[in-house]
Amino acid sequence: MKRAPAGRRWRKVGTWATLPDGGHRICAACRTPVRSYRYRFHPAASDLYERCIGLSWCSPCRVYTGAMVHVPRDKTLDDALADLGQDQRERLERSEVRLIAYLDGRIDHPDRIHEQ
Ligand SMILES: [Zn+2]
Repeated sequence: MKRAPAGRRWRKVGTWATLPDGGHRICAACRTPVRSYRYRFHPAASDLYERCIGLSWCSPCRVYTGAMVHVPRDKTLDDALADLGQDQRERLERSEVRLIAYLDGRIDHPDRIHEQ
């Protein structure tokens, strides 16, 4: 299994080939579990509050998708940016690529243990 070199650019795609693997999906090209993150984009007072952004990506392949997803108002979403300052947070939220790069770096990759 080849790893993408660090710093390779993320590429947005409409969709990419994934396979079911238990309750999850894995990338068809490299068999890495697909990672995803959903976040709210509209304020709670808005009628559009339930329309969220859903990102999915494959870390080694550096591909991602971004789509509008519906999340019920009463569902609490994990906020991966909770411990960031306001400036840093806004900077990430302005760019899907920056956000993905940040999230990808933050989430532990259990399969990397073998490379150290
Ligand atoms: Zn992949």
